[in-house]
Amino acid sequence: MEAACTNNMSETQDTIFGKIIRREIPADIVYEDDLALAFKDINPQAPVHILVIPKEPIPKLADAGDQHQALMGHLLLTVKRVAEQVGLTNGYRVAINNGAYGGQTVCHLHLHILGGRQMKWPPG
Ligand code: AMP
Repeated sequence: MEAACTNNMSETQDTIFGKIIRREIPADIVYEDDLALAFKDINPQAPVHILVIPKEPIPKLADAGDQHQALMGHLLLTVKRVAEQVGLTNGYRVAINNGAYGGQTVCHLHLHILGGRQMKWPPG
């Protein structure tokens, strides 16, 4: 497990997701454009579990700034596009874990798409 994400943008470190973006390690990529990448989670928590990430290495949601407004919208629309692409017609959950208490383990902002089964609330 990687270290908990710091609060300082300048302390951004390379992560496993950076390696996936640069094709240094393999991933099951389902979508890519200039700004975003989507790939299957290696440890799926639902029949469909896909991660959508920005190519820019923003460590976590709390590190996003006003300059990322368009990118944040793009990521959400990418979630919608990918969910349609993989046939999640009955709904799905989108989750962002932010920082240590949010349960974030990889310090590169990512949106989880979870689907293919009934989701429960509240999450653990
Ligand atoms: P989080 O706990 O929100 O930081 O989520 C990180 C997610 O990344 C977890 O669901 C992991 O299973 C997933 N993950 C870690 N390494 C890889 C990898 N090499 N390829 C795909 N997913 C990964």
